[in-house]
Amino acid sequence: MRARRTRLVAALAASVALVLSACGGGGGEDQLSGPSVDVEVDQDAQFEPGTTMAELNQRGTIRIGTKYDQPLFGVRGLDGQMQGFDVEIGRIIAGKLGIPPDRIQWVETPSQTREEVLEQDKVDMVIATYTINDNRKQRISFAGPYYEAGQDLMVKADDNTITGPESLRPTGAKVCSVTGSTPAEEIKKYVDPANLVLFDVYSKCADALRTGQVQAVTTDNVILLGLAEQSGGQFKLVEKPFTEEPYGIGIKKGDVQFCEFINQTLTEAAQSGKYEQAWRATAGKVAQQTPQLPQLDPCV
Ligand code: GLU
Repeated sequence: MRARRTRLVAALAASVALVLSACGGGGGEDQLSGPSVDVEVDQDAQFEPGTTMAELNQRGTIRIGTKYDQPLFGVRGLDGQMQGFDVEIGRIIAGKLGIPPDRIQWVETPSQTREEVLEQDKVDMVIATYTINDNRKQRISFAGPYYEAGQDLMVKADDNTITGPESLRPTGAKVCSVTGSTPAEEIKKYVDPANLVLFDVYSKCADALRTGQVQAVTTDNVILLGLAEQSGGQFKLVEKPFTEEPYGIGIKKGDVQFCEFINQTLTEAAQSGKYEQAWRATAGKVAQQTPQLPQLDPCV
C-alpha cells in the first residue's frame, strides 16, 4: 500500500543532471540527459517484488533504446540533449518508475538492431518509431500502440513526377530506406531491387536525396516530416500514406506485467494531458493534428 505519494517536477531533476554529468555520468555511446517538458517523478513508487518495474525502480536508472537522428521523434543534439516524442514517452514511463529524466540512459538504436538489443539485454525498452507487427512479436513483445503513422515518400521540393508509390517504377526513380524497417520491405512491391538503396539510418537517405543519388526517401510520414522540416524547404512529402504503422514500445518477450504497467502509464498520461503536452512540445511543433492515444493492444 502506498502511504504517501510525493511528486517531484523534473525541473529539479535537471539541476541534478548537471551535477551528475560533472561527476562523469554517461560516456561511450550512451547518454544521460535532462528533460524538456515537465515530467512527474513518482518518488514513492512501489512494485511487486520480482517484477521488471521493481527491479528498475530499485536500480534507479533505465536504459532506453531510441533513434538519434530523427527530428520530432528521437534526436540527440550536439549538446547531448535528447528530444522528440519518443524521448518524452520514455521520460513519462521512467517517471512512473520513480526514475528522473537525468537517470535515463539513452542508447542509440537504429532500426535493424531493435530486436537484438532487447534479446541481448542491452536495453530495458525500445521507443524508436517501432511498428508493431507479428514478425517482430516472435522475438519481442510490445506495449502500446502510442501513435499511428503511415508510410509515405519524400522528394525534392521541385519534383512533380513522383506522386505516389505507383509512380516510382515508371519514372525509374531510385528510392532510399533503412535496413530492418517495415517501409524497406513494403517498397519492394513498387521498385526493382537495383533501384532500392538501403542505409542504417534515415539521415543518410536525406543526404542521398540532397546530392541526387536517389530521387525519393521512403519511411513513416512523421519521420519524413521531421527530415523535410530540417531541410529548410529543399524536400517535401508526397502526402499519400499507403500503410499503417502503429508504434509500440518494445520490451523483452513475454513480460506481460511490464507491458500492462506501460499501457496503464500511457492511459494515465492521456487522461492527465501529459501525452498531449509531450506531443505539442515535440512533433506537434510541425505536425498539423494532435493525435489521441490509440486503442491499446492487450498484453500477451
Ligand atoms: N515504423 C517503421 C519500422 O518500425 C519505420 C521507422 C523506423 O525504421 O524506425 O520499421
